[in-house]
Amino acid sequence: MLVALFNDQYVDMVGEITKEEWYLKNKSGKLRCPVCQNKVIPKCGTKKTWHFAHHSFEECEGFHEGETDYHLLGKKGLYKWLTHVNEKTLLEYYIRDIKQRPDLFLQENQHVIEFQCATVTPEDLRKRISGYQSLNIASDWIFGMKRIKQKGPDLYYIQSSDLSAAKKDSNGQLYLNYYCPLKEQFFRLRNIIPLSQKKVAAHGYAFSKKKCCDVLWLSRTFLNLKTHNVNHNVLWKKQKYTWRTTAFKNTSPAVMYMKKVLYFNHHSLTLFPSVAGISTDDFYHIETSPYLWQTYMLFLIEKLPTSLFSTNFIEQEFQRLIQKRVLQIRDFPYLKESWRDAVENYLSFLVNHHLLEKVSEKTYRRIQYVHYPKTLDEAFKLDEIFSEKS
Ligand SMILES: [Zn+2]
Repeated sequence: MLVALFNDQYVDMVGEITKEEWYLKNKSGKLRCPVCQNKVIPKCGTKKTWHFAHHSFEECEGFHEGETDYHLLGKKGLYKWLTHVNEKTLLEYYIRDIKQRPDLFLQENQHVIEFQCATVTPEDLRKRISGYQSLNIASDWIFGMKRIKQKGPDLYYIQSSDLSAAKKDSNGQLYLNYYCPLKEQFFRLRNIIPLSQKKVAAHGYAFSKKKCCDVLWLSRTFLNLKTHNVNHNVLWKKQKYTWRTTAFKNTSPAVMYMKKVLYFNHHSLTLFPSVAGISTDDFYHIETSPYLWQTYMLFLIEKLPTSLFSTNFIEQEFQRLIQKRVLQIRDFPYLKESWRDAVENYLSFLVNHHLLEKVSEKTYRRIQYVHYPKTLDEAFKLDEIFSEKS
């Protein structure tokens, strides 16, 4: 932690106070934790960013010991950036009502910024975001740059749980912010298209801290930057190829379930319809690969006794598989859309490709049976045609 109380006044490790002064303060025994009021000691070594540590390992609900240097350094760097761009910022401010202590709190704007270096589960993330929301406080997550790796042009590996903190820009595209405390640089990941749990196609931009002259930068859409998705299409096609060529050895619950369903209907998962595995809008709300849930949806529609069906029927069936944990859902606390939109948008896609007809708000009619490729060669050829059409 970077903040403590001394004689009931806030003191911090980001200013000019010398090591000797800190030791003097320490001797007086008046350095306390602002949350639990227990004694803290200044740590002014040469290896780690100067910080305070609790004297004993008693439970403190506001701080977790063992903060890494990377985190301390980043928090300090972001604090300096915010005070430089004239935002009155409180460091490690403890909000007692919700027992949460954001890294940075812009009190005037009622806006918190978390610099996240450790993994936070989507459940915890949602809890923390709703904590802030309950007090009408806006929030933003900035992740440690260590949590992302570039693997090729427009191809990145991220920590899958970080994706939950994504927001949509004004073009409706997902983005995430990162910060590197060592280079003092921001990194924006835009137009994110998840390819698998950890792999994403996205455009990355690094910005020096000096270029980001206000806090709104965190949510700004850059219209002048690259918007075409040439690599995204190439990466998606490659992913579809991987799905076809690895399905046979994949043993995830969703794959096993789909294999069984298709097997009993004389189809093979490797030869799933080319019209499945499409990156339709909001598809990523379902974490399970789209070739699986879209193939399943096509299968459901094919098996209907009548050509007319309602969206509710599909949703109920998906709900059942979600409860059975066959299908995995991604949680996005900041987005208003859900997996139901993924389902709806794929139905619209099928309407555009003349497989369905929309009869009313919630009713569709099947007008064509879906084609299953006979061989892998045929499948690859159809995938090629489809990637150009979609
Ligand atoms: Zn404490």
